[in-house]
Amino acid sequence: MDPILLTPGPLTTSLATRSAMLRDWGSWDGEFNALTARVRQRLVALVDGGDDYTCVPLQGSGTFAVEAAVGTLVPRGGRLLVLVNGAYGRRMVRLAQIMGREVVPLDFGETSPVEPGRVAAALAADPAISHVGVVYCETSTGILNPLAEIAAAVAAAGRRLIVDAMSAFGALPLSAVDTPFEAVVASANKCLEGVPGMGFVLVRRDALAGSGGNAPSLSLDLHDQWNYMEQTGQWRYTPPTHVVAALAAALDQYDAEGGQPARLARYRDNCAALIDGLAALGLHAFLPAEIQAPIIVTVHSPDQPGWDFRDFYQRVKAQGFVLYPGKLTEIETFRVGCIGAIGRGQIEAAVAAMGLALREMGLQVERLDD
Ligand SMILES: *Cc1c(COP(=O)(O)O)cnc(C)c1O
Repeated sequence: MDPILLTPGPLTTSLATRSAMLRDWGSWDGEFNALTARVRQRLVALVDGGDDYTCVPLQGSGTFAVEAAVGTLVPRGGRLLVLVNGAYGRRMVRLAQIMGREVVPLDFGETSPVEPGRVAAALAADPAISHVGVVYCETSTGILNPLAEIAAAVAAAGRRLIVDAMSAFGALPLSAVDTPFEAVVASANKCLEGVPGMGFVLVRRDALAGSGGNAPSLSLDLHDQWNYMEQTGQWRYTPPTHVVAALAAALDQYDAEGGQPARLARYRDNCAALIDGLAALGLHAFLPAEIQAPIIVTVHSPDQPGWDFRDFYQRVKAQGFVLYPGKLTEIETFRVGCIGAIGRGQIEAAVAAMGLALREMGLQVERLDD
């Protein structure tokens, strides 16, 4: 049996999504270009983007798309305020610095959401800040940032917002109608449940149209990618054909399931089943429930001498479930994803596998129901 990936990207995909890749497409082929155009339109529609927004897909993992968005939209003389509460915020700081952009990090620690009031104060104090970067769900811990309030603060200050919505897109609410943004970046292989290989940027047409010549890179030039695609209907450079076909199939299933509300409901149920099941094993979530996004759960490792994540990982994997290591620097944790083409049944089976692994390792297992 194929393993269940409890790793948020790549994640477990459906058979229908994987089957959509059993065909080769030519990059010049009209049918493939029509497929790309449809996928782009559907992604814009997911954020109620209307005619004001366009979708620029980009080959590569999600970080490539974040880097392309920042490098293309923040001009050479611009200044980017990055709201940091985990590894992905730090990554945005780093990629902007490497591209020679002026970056101001605003740090909230690793255990608190971004505070919109502090964002407003930072913008008021520094009129040279042109853009703000934020991560919607900080996947390194699972913290949910209050995006709508942050977007309102940025808009009130007349600045432009770039959102790394990678691990939230398609599951957590996000509409251009009530959350003003210049660009939202996401990828095929997270809550849309496609396969890895492409990211995309949903961006205001007027901002993109004015961004020519900004990008410090050829292959990560979003403006150039957009221009070429608008003119030819084709991808600039080799397209990830199978990934696009899989994403189109994944979007069909997304619609059939009931779109964003249904996906969020399933992930919430997965997350609740996971947290409850782990608690019954004596394992506790790192984040309080109020700031926990139903995407990925950071779990305190057992505070016992016999604990070894690699051993635990191998034992759980042998039962068909793939876990994720922790990403916190100070505290021993591991992570379990709630997303992918899985439901409560798979989560409960994964919890049972973790319980068995703990017993095999001779670690004490609490039984709350005894
Ligand atoms: C997954 C993810 C990314 C992109 O990671 P890649 O490994 O480059 O695909 C960026 N930001 C967040 C918040 C993510 O969860």
